[in-house]
Amino acid sequence: MSLRLENVSYIYGKGTTTETAALKNINLEIEKEEFVAIIGHTGSGKSTLIQHFNGLEKATEGNVYYNDKNIYDSDFNMKELRCRVGLVFQYPEHQLFEETVLKDVCFGPLNQGLSKEQAKERAIEALKLVGMREELYESSPFELSGGQKRRAAIAGVLAMEPDLLILDEPTAGLDPAGRDKILNQIKMLHERKKIGVILVSHSMEDVANYAQRIIVMNKGEVKYDDTPEKVFKNYRELERIGLAAPQITYIMHQLREDGLKVDEDIINLEQAKESILKSLGR
Ligand code: ADP
Ligand code: MG
Repeated sequence: MSLRLENVSYIYGKGTTTETAALKNINLEIEKEEFVAIIGHTGSGKSTLIQHFNGLEKATEGNVYYNDKNIYDSDFNMKELRCRVGLVFQYPEHQLFEETVLKDVCFGPLNQGLSKEQAKERAIEALKLVGMREELYESSPFELSGGQKRRAAIAGVLAMEPDLLILDEPTAGLDPAGRDKILNQIKMLHERKKIGVILVSHSMEDVANYAQRIIVMNKGEVKYDDTPEKVFKNYRELERIGLAAPQITYIMHQLREDGLKVDEDIINLEQAKESILKSLGR
């Protein structure tokens, strides 16, 4: 699986008075089995960008390639792409619509042409993967809590067995415990199922803990695209565009200024602990 965006620009309402350039000349390549995070201020183009990854929005300029095939070619199989590259929307309500959770999760596999039995098997496997309790399978998706709705929406995409799972702010509105649960489940999927993950997030902590690569969006452009350590090194510049480094990065910088010989570029608690113990000679 590979996805490539070449010189992609996107304009909302082209030719109208409300014309907005949401993406400006984006060049990106997403490799197999990566765990990538996309961060950026509200309105920086994150949601618009990910909707280009599975062809939901069509670039105003430029091209998108899936396994080196141009997805805008007339003979390109868009339905296949939408199964391989699964997108979970920011608001699960936009995605859930059936009477029961189980029916909702069966929808994708049925649409792929699987039999009822096969679809149900896939759905149950997906619901188990996201940790949905069995007694909720027959509930209406709309009666679920925020965290459970997210799980149902993620299961609906997983049931299609995608190679790449894209999640638009999957932890927004959840409490810290619910947030960690969802993120750990996603991490487990990435490790055990070898699924590629693209996580759009507002939380620098989440991003530092889970992603191998961070893409920073600013005003429709890619500002940084690098490892978390290298991206958060630019924390002054990140602040200028309304972002920040994880809190622990600031604490470690302060400790260095105060004379403790801890490493630079610390981005999570695990690294911080090791570095502090080492600097104390333990
Ligand atoms: P993000 O997800 O980073 O908050 P978006 O991709 O939603 O950013 O938005 C990028 C830009 O496009 C913003 O200026 C936003 O106001 C504009 N925009 C987003 N969706 C629409 C839309 N449906 N119609 C017009 N403008 C839009
Ligand atoms: Mg968004």
